[in-house]
Amino acid sequence: MTQAHATDAAWSAIAAQLAPVEVIDQPVLVKKRSRDFFWYSPILNAQLRTRFGDLVAKPATRKEMAQCLAVAYRNDVPVVLRGGGTGNYGQAVPLNGGLIVETTAMNRILEIGEGFVRVEAGALMADINAALVPHGWEMAMFPSTQDIATVGGFVAGGSAGIGSIANGPLREKGNIIQIKALSVEATPHEHVFDAEESLSIHHAWGLNGAITEVTLRTVPTRNWVGCMAGFASYADAYAAGYALASAPDVQIARKLCSVVDARIAGYFPRLDHHVPKGQHLLVSLVPREQLDAFRDLMAEHGGTVHLAMDETERQAAKLPHVFEFAYNHTTLQVLKSDRSATYQQIGVPDPADTGAITAIRAALGDDVWSHHEFTRAGGQIYCADLPIIWFRSAERLAEINTTYEAYGFTVYDAHVNVIEGNHMQPDYRHLAWKKRLDPKGLLNPGKSLVWEKVRHLSADKIEALQRSTNPE
Ligand SMILES: Cc1cc2nc3c(=O)[nH]c(=O)nc-3n(C[C@H](O)[C@H](O)[C@H](O)COP(=O)(O)OP(=O)(O)OC[C@H]3O[C@@H](n4cnc5c(N)ncnc54)[C@H](O)[C@@H]3O)c2cc1C
Repeated sequence: MTQAHATDAAWSAIAAQLAPVEVIDQPVLVKKRSRDFFWYSPILNAQLRTRFGDLVAKPATRKEMAQCLAVAYRNDVPVVLRGGGTGNYGQAVPLNGGLIVETTAMNRILEIGEGFVRVEAGALMADINAALVPHGWEMAMFPSTQDIATVGGFVAGGSAGIGSIANGPLREKGNIIQIKALSVEATPHEHVFDAEESLSIHHAWGLNGAITEVTLRTVPTRNWVGCMAGFASYADAYAAGYALASAPDVQIARKLCSVVDARIAGYFPRLDHHVPKGQHLLVSLVPREQLDAFRDLMAEHGGTVHLAMDETERQAAKLPHVFEFAYNHTTLQVLKSDRSATYQQIGVPDPADTGAITAIRAALGDDVWSHHEFTRAGGQIYCADLPIIWFRSAERLAEINTTYEAYGFTVYDAHVNVIEGNHMQPDYRHLAWKKRLDPKGLLNPGKSLVWEKVRHLSADKIEALQRSTNPE
């Protein structure tokens, strides 16, 4: 079913029905809120830059959010949830127009307890961390966009971040304690997803419910020191990264472990006078009391620690957080100077195999610059390459993907706008809950190809497909 496109007059009527919820209808502001960071990809940029919503609503409470969803249901219009709009694949871009529900006014921190924090979906993660630290806690993990990204957007669109090398990705058991989400019905109902059940909503791109509240695991905070170590060879920097990732927590309990090609580091002018030019970098956060062990480990691999600052020292030096040179911020630092760069998401088959990294770097050529992120899941170490790619054409990008695959790496294509992108298995649990919570299929239409094939089935039948195609 495709929703009928409402006329301008109909949108005025919808805006009136939304009162007293704050609405934004100036076209320039609605257009601004229809975008995310899809422009990292020249391919997505061409597809998505002219896709806009029709009206923005900014609920301040869950009652107001329920009203927004009820109005969308009554008028049969698409509805796209939006947090900070920092998603990378056009996750929050309204493909069929419609109502954008921006959650940033629903931002209260509701409860801080032993090992958990309960917050409204629109809370910014930097604010959550700031509230936690005086109580001796911090988020178990957060994305490098913590200053503008919401916790609801992270749980709906993100996967891992700073802390994941210590505490796993979001989907790791115990990291998401509870998610509450509203249905899109005449009278929206709030559903509660506890523990493992929360995976039914996590990373569903806002397709199957409007998240109102999230409870996440927290961990004891420490005096973290942001570090940058320099290496003459990428292979040494990578091997040091693997050694750091595998170090026992009692030795070095790092919460970030990123390796960045020297050519990318050349695009980090804020680090001038702190880190020598031409060095491959290992970017990390380590506890103050383990700094000496970290220095020793870097030296064992031929590296030197050039920068080591805790939060107070960093602020005094007016430097960005070290994680603003990691994850997808690395890409952003390059894009700030040159929009012809793009990136890709690559799974490394054996993180311990430095030789395979050297071989693929040689095979790829000068238009692909490596950047590796180490994480941990289920006690195992994983590594992803998020390389800078100097974009020449879609054909050359496809050739780069093929080269990675020929060497046994997995391409999780960052240049597609559907949730079942390259190598992602359809998640029928997501779609079963979509059937239950969004029976008209109004939430973020167009983002799931598989939904169109299964929407005629009952929720139970859709869920059964998960067991038959993707048993866990
Ligand atoms: C520079 C940069 C660095 C990044 N680093 C990381 C990183 O370290 N780790 C990582 O995982 N990601 C990263 N990302 C991606 C992105 O920042 C995160 O996923 C972020 O947490 C998204 O939050 P947001 O509030 O901006 O969500 P949005 O972009 O607003 O939304 C993301 C998705 O969630 C849905 N959504 C938003 N709110 C709700 C809600 N209340 N209920 C249901 N659905 C909702 C939207 O519809 C959309 O599909 C990065 C992106 C950039 C540009």
